[in-house]
Amino acid sequence: MNESYYGCSTCASADKPLEGFIAKLPMETSHHRVESQETKCGFGLQGVCCRLCANGPCRITPESPRGICGATADVMVTRNFLRTVASGAGCYLHVVENTALNLKNTALGKGKLKGLDTLERLCKTFGVSGKDNHEKALHVADAVLADLYKPEYVRMDLVEKMAYPPRFKVWKELGILPGGAKSEVFHGVVKCSTNLNSDPVMCS
Ligand code: SF4
Repeated sequence: MNESYYGCSTCASADKPLEGFIAKLPMETSHHRVESQETKCGFGLQGVCCRLCANGPCRITPESPRGICGATADVMVTRNFLRTVASGAGCYLHVVENTALNLKNTALGKGKLKGLDTLERLCKTFGVSGKDNHEKALHVADAVLADLYKPEYVRMDLVEKMAYPPRFKVWKELGILPGGAKSEVFHGVVKCSTNLNSDPVMCS
């Protein structure tokens, strides 16, 4: 084992046991790389760098307020933000989808179910039932998968059942209740692609 210590000077006031643990690790970690990545790209930080097509990268400055395609700073920032959120949401959807598929396959194969308290809680929240735990698990998994696979123009059912009620009310008032989750991610990415939409309000 490599016994050389990298030390840690990026979190001197943070959790002391963690600081000591990181300082003694015989390897470089993300904590150490914070220092070598301290100099940030100003365009990237402001979201005004676009690499959506082969004409780029385009950067917004006072002297060049539009990319080659005509995209403004507002368009770039909105597109970059939406794409970041879409890819992050996609990762969580991947986890949810795999979990639901595993639960469904376990239920169909009459496998061992863990977390029966959670299963009961989800049945209650979703408003589903079953003659035994395997059927309950199947119905829970199917409810999640059915919601995930809806088109973006069909509202998800489980959002209202799971969201914090005052927040759901605000989303409803703002008209931003989501349609099928995977489809929303797809449309989010497609709608902000170059040549498809240049309205920062519409593309969000
Ligand atoms: S989409 Fe427009 S702003 Fe973005 S890289 Fe292409 S030409 Fe430049």
